[in-house]
This record gives sequence, structure tokens and C-alpha cells, in this order.
Amino acid sequence: MNELVSVPHIVPLDDILPDEPLLMMGAGPVPIPARVAAANSIVINHLGDTMNRVIEQVKDMGRYVFQTTSSHVMGVGGPGSAAMEMAIANLVRPGDKVLCICNGYFSRRMAEMVGRVRGVATILDIPGNEGASVELVERELRKTQYDAITLVQGETSNTVFNRSLDRIAQLARERDCLVIVDAVCTLSTMPLEMDRWQIDAVITGGQKGLSSIPGVSLLAFSERAWAKKIASRTELPFHWCLDAQLADKFWNQKSYHYTAPVSGILALHEALRLVCSETLPKRFARHQQCSEALQAGIEGMGLQLLVAKEHRLNSVIGIVTPDHVSSDAVREHMSSVHKVEISGAFGMNIVRIGQMGEQSRAHNLFRTLHALGSSMQANGAKLDLPAGMAELERSLSGPAANRHLHG
Ligand SMILES: *Cc1c(COP(=O)(O)O)cnc(C)c1O
Repeated sequence: MNELVSVPHIVPLDDILPDEPLLMMGAGPVPIPARVAAANSIVINHLGDTMNRVIEQVKDMGRYVFQTTSSHVMGVGGPGSAAMEMAIANLVRPGDKVLCICNGYFSRRMAEMVGRVRGVATILDIPGNEGASVELVERELRKTQYDAITLVQGETSNTVFNRSLDRIAQLARERDCLVIVDAVCTLSTMPLEMDRWQIDAVITGGQKGLSSIPGVSLLAFSERAWAKKIASRTELPFHWCLDAQLADKFWNQKSYHYTAPVSGILALHEALRLVCSETLPKRFARHQQCSEALQAGIEGMGLQLLVAKEHRLNSVIGIVTPDHVSSDAVREHMSSVHKVEISGAFGMNIVRIGQMGEQSRAHNLFRTLHALGSSMQANGAKLDLPAGMAELERSLSGPAANRHLHG
């Protein structure tokens, strides 16, 4: 046969992947526990009794991590952004007025998605690497009757924390506004109480706080949002795959919508099960202690953190790269010499280190801090590396220290 397209020259994966896997300490994806990896290698029927039992447990565990009793917890085959789009596509109708609180790149993505479904997005820009203040949001909410607000709990792009999320959600609810929250990087790393804080949609991804794989995500709608916008809708949403009523067929009615990503759902099941066995209070304490210790170590060696303490996110840490030192060169050195991967940041001369899920383990902190300090020095930064390491050790062995830090 005379083929139109000839066989391409392909090297095996073994020749592409590094001999030693890099320690993934960036802004996601994060390392996955062995049980999650093992579950991810299994394919089962996407319908039937076995899958039904798995799905019931994923929903129950989802209700625990979201802290909701809602019957509308569901997964989506896709990245965190697909969960985001599913929330927005089902809750925002053409012409709806939506206040989008934007601290950075990801919160702005929600505003863009509002526009794509023909909602009218008003962007409330929060400059200066700060969290949104309650007063500012309240002033904006007084001006216009909005149908919904969108905001991020932790803005991964510039490591800003919206500390007042609970009070902002309450203000919005008092004005009969739906509250849509992106908790992709923060869920299970810090408190988020969907029902108590009266949030209408919480969005998460697999590969961040939950330490699962990328590509299968979880979200929850409140009963109120479901009744008001989904059950009573008069027009179909634009997206077939993201239609919450169709997804409900699979997640609540044991029937077919699209072929569910079974392996990824099994992986997510295991990741959630590990969260449940650790329990949320202990998991929050581990993340807080590890992140604060790492921050102390970074400052202890003479580096500066990007965001002031009051507005600083713990789930992802932004570090200012000293003048005349290249962030890209530092990251390249960390990867090639120390086998530790961290993130840059959309053009800013900073680097970002994640503290999500398995990243928040003592042994990973020591390796990462050492790799960061020595790679900074190799690229011309003047630092006191031993002082930073000592500070990390001191901080981790403080009164709250515990074996759980090692996993
Ligand atoms: C990573 C991230 C997203 C996007 O997740 P994808 O899986 O890349 O689509 C959205 N929001 C926040 C806060 C994130 O950290």
C-alpha cells in the first residue's frame, strides 16, 4: 500500500521521561499517593453495581470535604476549569448580572466564562496582591442588583487569599445573589464550609488540594441554586457535556450521560478516602503548619515572600526572586540538579511553591527548601541557606509538630 501518511518516528516514553521522577512542588499537579496511582490504573464498567457503589461513596466523601448536605455533588470529566464552566453554564443565564471579584488570573477566568454564556460580568478588580475587602464588595453590591457573584478562595496565580470569603458570601446572600466559589487549590487544605457560609456552588479540581490526578474534577451545587436555576430552567444551557441536569442522570440516577472517566473517578475515590481517614481538622493543621514552616525557612534564608501576611495564601507560596537573578534559571537548576519542580508565574519574576496535599510533608519541605536555596545561590543570590534550613527545622519541631507531617 502506498500510504499517504508514513509511520512517524517515535521514541518510547522511557526515553522522554526523566530516569528519576521530579518531586512536583509547583502550583499543580501535585504528587499522588500510591493508592491513588494504583486506582488510576484500573478500568471498570462505567455503569452497574460496582460503579454505583463507588459513586455513592464519592458523593458522600464529597459532601464531607465541601461540608454540605446537598444532594447535588457531582464530578465532571475535565480539568478544574471544566468544573468552573459547569457551575457558570448552569447558574448564569443570558443577561444575568454577575459581579466577578478578580484578584488574579483564575478569578478572571470566571469572568470570561460568564461572558461566554452571555452573562453580563462586572469585574471588581482587587489590585496590589490583596484579598477582597468586605467593604469594597458591599459598596459594589449596593450599586446594582446582581444575580450572582464569583470569587476564588485562594488565587493560585499570585498567591493571594480571600480571607473574607465567608463574610462576602453572607453579604451576597442577603441580597439574593448566588455565590460561586473557586476552591480548586484550597479545598481540603483550609476550612471551607459550603452550607454554613451559604455558598451556592463550590468548584474544585483533582490535582491540587485533593492530591488526585488532573482531569477529573468535583463540584457541588446548593439545593437553593439547584431549585432556582437548574430544576426550574426554561431554556437549555449552551453546553451538552456540562449540563447539570444530564450529569444528574449519572451522578444521582445511575444511568448514562457520557462515559464517565472511570479510572480517574477511582483515583478520586482513593484521594477522598485518604482525606476522610486523615479528617479535615488534622489535614488543615498539617497544611498550615507545613506552609508556615516553609515560609519561615524561606524568609530565614533571606528571601522575600510576595504577599503580605494578612493577604497571603498558604496553599501556594509566592517568593520574590532577587534582582538580577532569573526565576527561569533557578527553576531549571532545581529541576536538573535537585530533581525538584516548582512553578514560575505568568511573567512576574517570582517562583511559586505549592503546599497542597502530599506537598505538605516534612521530608518534601526539607528537600524543596534546600533545592531552592542552593539553586538561588548558584544563580547569584546572596543567601544564608543554613539559617533557612534551621528555621524550617525549628518551626516544624514546634509544639504542634506531629508524626502526621511525614504521612
Ligand atoms: C489550577 C486552578 C484552576 C484551573 O484548574 P485546571 O485544572 O488547570 O483547569 C482554577 N482555579 C484555581 C484557583 C486554580 O488553582
